[in-house]
Amino acid sequence: MKILLTGGAGYIGSHTAVALIEAGFEPVVLDNFANSHPLVLDRLARITGRPVSLERGDVLDTAWLQDVLRRHRPVGVIHFAGDKAVGESVAQPLKYFHNNIGGAVSLMRAMSAVHAEDTTLTPTLVFSSSATVYGDPASVPITESFPRSHTNPYGHSKLVIEDMLAAVCAANPAWRVGTLRYFNPVGAHPSGLMGEDPSGIPNNLMPYVAQVAVGQREHLNVYGNDYPTPDGTGVRDYIHVQDLAAGHVAAIQALLGRSESFTVNLGTGQGHSVLDVVHAFEKASGRPIPYQIAPRRAGDVAQCWADPALALRLLGWQAKHSLDEMCADTWRWQSANPTGYRG
Ligand code: NAD
Ligand code: UDP
Repeated sequence: MKILLTGGAGYIGSHTAVALIEAGFEPVVLDNFANSHPLVLDRLARITGRPVSLERGDVLDTAWLQDVLRRHRPVGVIHFAGDKAVGESVAQPLKYFHNNIGGAVSLMRAMSAVHAEDTTLTPTLVFSSSATVYGDPASVPITESFPRSHTNPYGHSKLVIEDMLAAVCAANPAWRVGTLRYFNPVGAHPSGLMGEDPSGIPNNLMPYVAQVAVGQREHLNVYGNDYPTPDGTGVRDYIHVQDLAAGHVAAIQALLGRSESFTVNLGTGQGHSVLDVVHAFEKASGRPIPYQIAPRRAGDVAQCWADPALALRLLGWQAKHSLDEMCADTWRWQSANPTGYRG
């Protein structure tokens, strides 16, 4: 059974491709490599022992997407493709509205057209949403019924896509949609062959810490130590990308088992501070992580972690990996591939 992964060569998509193969599915990776590297396909083949199909192109090209869907006839689509840098989205909002919202519209149009030709196919879609749709939450842990808001064009694009998916499902009850709100994905494949490969200076904490450990950056800036949290630094729900990948398999299996559409948090339910991450990474790598306290980063919330109970109830899924494992796997990837896939 084929599953089409838009953005499948990216960080989360590549790990999900492995998990799908292990669960007996046949992933087809669709990517334009705007933020990934074709070498990922070689790594996928090394890990899984088989070649993974690639469709190289752009999700904005609806006619081509229709052709891909007709040729492969996937039983489901997981839509990872999109841009994800919050700061860039503030500077270049139209890039985000065009690629993220436009990409989702293009995909839904292509799926609708192919479904209209063959109504025996059920349009089945899993969408990569984000905890960013909760904005600055009034309390923690966060449940799916919390009010949604946005503080930047990236978050706005996720919110709009969630609403578009709901409207499409309301208009056509044949659709099955699983919306997954990720908390903070980190970690790497335990083989050390695949991991997160940010271009330029990493925005996110874990890849930045990993680059400090490997000696590429001098020190970490800790953005604020005066938050109302136990050690004053920001608290987040870091989730191992392997757990996230398993969550996608569970979501696809639930939708193919004729479950209703759903929206669930994918998080561990535990919060860790910036300094918790620094100390765990020092332990995993055996290297010191020098840091300096810097001013708060604009737009950051003090703390954010999930109530993951609904995902357990609906999908039978829960995160298994600890922060120590997240750091150990990140370190294995970073130390074996100091400059990522670019060699
Ligand atoms: P990523 O950048 O590693 O992967 C996205 C992939 O999509 C890349 O390979 C890129 O080349 C591809 N892509 C982008 N635009 C495309 C287009 N128009 N056509 C074809 N391919 C295109 O990002 P990721 O971390 O794997 O994230 C995957 C999804 O999860 C994104 O939608 C992101 O917004 C969402 N998400 C990520 C995080 C996170 O922290 N990583 C958190 C919450 C949600
Ligand atoms: N952070 C930091 N230094 C960095 C990057 C991030 O102190 O170089 C902090 C950030 O303020 C937040 C936490 O680490 O408290 C997680 O940030 P990240 O960007 O990884 O995730 P997000 O803010 O999107 O949850």
